[in-house]
Amino acid sequence: MTALADLHPAALYGLVVALGLLVGSFLNVVILRLPARLFHDWRCQCRELLELEPEGDPPPPGIALGRSRCRACGQGIRAFDNIPLLSWLILRGRCRSCGAPISARYPIVEALTALLSVAVIAALGPTWAGLAGLVFTWALIAGSGIDLDHKLLPDQITLPLVWLGLLLNVDGLFVDLPSAVIGAAAGYLVLWAVFHLFRLATGKEGMGYGDFKLLAAIGAWFGWQVLPTVILLASAVGALIGLVLIALRRMGREVPIAFGPFLAAAGWLVLVGGDRVVDFWVF
Ligand SMILES: [Zn+2]
Repeated sequence: MTALADLHPAALYGLVVALGLLVGSFLNVVILRLPARLFHDWRCQCRELLELEPEGDPPPPGIALGRSRCRACGQGIRAFDNIPLLSWLILRGRCRSCGAPISARYPIVEALTALLSVAVIAALGPTWAGLAGLVFTWALIAGSGIDLDHKLLPDQITLPLVWLGLLLNVDGLFVDLPSAVIGAAAGYLVLWAVFHLFRLATGKEGMGYGDFKLLAAIGAWFGWQVLPTVILLASAVGALIGLVLIALRRMGREVPIAFGPFLAAAGWLVLVGGDRVVDFWVF
C-alpha cells in the first residue's frame, strides 16, 4: 500500500484506469455467463426433484474458462480484438468475421468500471479502504447488470459482500463492528418487512429477496446508520426513473423495474461520499 501511495498521481490513476478496464471486461463475462450457469443449475435441480431424466445439452461455459465468441457467427474472438474499450472502437462495434453489430454495453460496462474505480481511489486514496471499495464497486456493477437483464440479484454476489463487509469491519475499516452487524441484520429485515406489508396490502411483489441481501451487504459495510439514506435515495431515484419511463411510454405501469441497481447506486454514493451523503439526505 505504501508503494502505491508513493506513486505519482498520473501513474496511480493510469494504473487504476487500466485495472478498471480489465475488470470491466471480466464483469461483462460475469453478467453474461453467471445467470446462464444459474438457470442451467436450477433446471437440473428441478428435473432431479421431479425425478426426470437429466437434460442432454451441455452446461453453458464457465466464467473463468472458455473463450469469448461472437454471438452471431460463433467465431472465437482473438486476443487482439478483445482489448477492453479500444477493440470495440477500432472495430466500430462490429464483429471482424461477420460484421454483426457488437452491443455497446460491453464498452459501456468497461468504461463505467474504469470511471467508478477512479472515483473510489480519488475519494478513499490508495489505501486498504480504497482497495476494499474497488471490490465493493465491482461486485455492485456485476450485480446491477444481472439485475437489469434478469430481475435477479444472485446470492453468489450479494452474500459474499455481506461476509466481506463484516470481516473488514472487525477492525473498523469503515464503521465499528456492532454498527456493521446491526446494519447487516437491519438491512435485510427492513426490506423484508416492506416486501411482506406491500404484498399483504396489494397482493403484488415489489422487490426480490436479492434486494434484501444487497441492503444487508450495504449495512454490513457502512453500518445501520446509513440505511435510511440508502433506502430514501434508492426509492427517490427509482421512482423518478420509473415515472420518466412510464411518461415516455417505454413501459407500462405494471412492469416491474429492478430495484437492485438503485440500491447499488445509493450504496456506492455512501462509499465515496461517506457522511456528506448521509448528512445531505437526513438534514
Ligand atoms: Zn461474428
